[in-house]
Amino acid sequence: MKTLEPAHFFLFFVGAAFLWVAGDFLLVKLSQFFTSRLASRKWRDCHLCGKRYAEKPRLKLSSCPDCEALNHKKGHRRLG
Ligand SMILES: [Zn+2]
Repeated sequence: MKTLEPAHFFLFFVGAAFLWVAGDFLLVKLSQFFTSRLASRKWRDCHLCGKRYAEKPRLKLSSCPDCEALNHKKGHRRLG
């Protein structure tokens, strides 16, 4: 049995580097996917107590589960 040749060693490092980069790329893609999924869940922040809760995007007004204050859809113009 011969010991590992330098060329094989080099190939091993290239392969490892490639896997590293590919894994990193996949992780970035996955995190982007999950953050976009979270963003599509339409979180609403209560204007009174600041609680963040998920709400159906169709509803214009929704009540906070904690203090039952009415909250407008996000992106609504100033609430005052
Ligand atoms: Zn609240």
